[in-house]
Amino acid sequence: MAQMTIDFSRFFVPPNLKEAKKRGKEAVNVIRDFDIPEDMKDIGRGHTYLIRTYGCQMNVHDSETIAGILERMGYAPTEDEREADIILYNTCAVRENAEDKVFGELGRLKGLKRTKPDLILGVCGCMPQEEAVVNRILQRYPHVDLIFGTHNIHRLPVLLREALYAKEMVVEVWSKEGDIVENLPKVRQDGVRAWVNIMYGCDKFCTYCIVPYTRGKERSRLPQDVLAEVRDLARQGYMEVTLLGQNVNAYGKDFVDLDYDFADLLDDIRKIGIPRVRFTTSHPRDFDDKLIEVLAKGGNLVEHIHLPVQSGNSEILKKMARKYTREQYLELVRKIKEAIPGVALTTDIIVGFPGETEEQFQDTLSLVREVEFDGAYTFVYSPRPGTPAAEMEDNVPLEEKKDRLHRLNALVNEIALKKNEALRGQVVEVLVEGRSKTNPNMLSGRTRTNKLVHFPGGEELVGKLLPVKITEAHAHTLYGEALVASGV
Ligand code: SF4
Repeated sequence: MAQMTIDFSRFFVPPNLKEAKKRGKEAVNVIRDFDIPEDMKDIGRGHTYLIRTYGCQMNVHDSETIAGILERMGYAPTEDEREADIILYNTCAVRENAEDKVFGELGRLKGLKRTKPDLILGVCGCMPQEEAVVNRILQRYPHVDLIFGTHNIHRLPVLLREALYAKEMVVEVWSKEGDIVENLPKVRQDGVRAWVNIMYGCDKFCTYCIVPYTRGKERSRLPQDVLAEVRDLARQGYMEVTLLGQNVNAYGKDFVDLDYDFADLLDDIRKIGIPRVRFTTSHPRDFDDKLIEVLAKGGNLVEHIHLPVQSGNSEILKKMARKYTREQYLELVRKIKEAIPGVALTTDIIVGFPGETEEQFQDTLSLVREVEFDGAYTFVYSPRPGTPAAEMEDNVPLEEKKDRLHRLNALVNEIALKKNEALRGQVVEVLVEGRSKTNPNMLSGRTRTNKLVHFPGGEELVGKLLPVKITEAHAHTLYGEALVASGV
């Protein structure tokens, strides 16, 4: 491989997983003076951008911010990559196959870049937080113009200026960052539902997970900033907000002079006139009685909790460093179900973690049966370089992992179908999100419990809360009829 001759030192701060793991006690700085430099304010006029987003809701929301910054510079969105002047890949590092897809895309775009040398091709999000990824792009994909990390989004105008004028690959990835940047512009994808970050980063360090390294330390936005954003969304007519954080239950734990936690925040948001409030993702360890008490007040706090369990076996949970046992998780579920009647619980589960025996996997199945989740995201374990679990012997054969996944999915679907069948004939409240992706004659929306419902109806119902009678149930979807005439 040819030696790189470009001097990246001005821009390139190499990401470092060890550095990223250090959690300092420094106070979190809130930066409020974000602005587009004068010379960049109109730079995009007459030009277009395209963002391809991979991974979790956090990334989707980051893409809304990136779009907001680009549009402030005058760029307009496009879906046509041959037309785009900027193509950005906002990437996910949680699974290897998501990374492989991005590398495949970068290779594919080599030809486009050759025919259109002024195209700015960029990679951002979680992948660049891994040193190995940055090195691979530097060595094998020299046609990439811009690489920036999850802590550098607010620097996009400056980095883009370098990429446009210096014509060199611009790389800026900070390993560790304790700051919160407020007042970044956003282009929200949806006029009905909005995502609101309440905190960034994660300090849990589950042994299989790369997120604490790619997203930095836990830092919470100040309550007044979150509440102001939610109030503003309510004023704009949004019907639902989802509060986002890698571990929303740790909200406020990093405040130095303020005794205010996630339960306090929800209790305050409950009083804002926005019809529905969701949150994701919860960590069972930090889910306390005070929070359950607030959720039990209902109102705009919906009856759905995504509560990742990952395994039903306490020994495996210990190896995962999840910091709770099977019994503690089940006790938490019991308390939640008792306090919030009709609550829907969903979860994440990993099968085939290093050393997981058939017996231990059976514990996961029995926990799923006991909790009766309404749905689950299920995954086969695969090691992420740099995480402690990657040092453990990955000794469950792939065929066995796949077989466990298959058996787990069959059980999850059986329970989900049973729960959905129980809704047949009932009238549920649906927030109409838009046209069904598969049938343009149907509308799609969600119940308070986050179940997807399709029903016939006209465009004018989008954004409304409607009573819908359920007529047909599947494991992942419900069908029904709105109890209002279209146009009413
Ligand atoms: S709580 Fe665990 S799984 Fe979730 S982001 Fe943090 S380290 Fe990853």
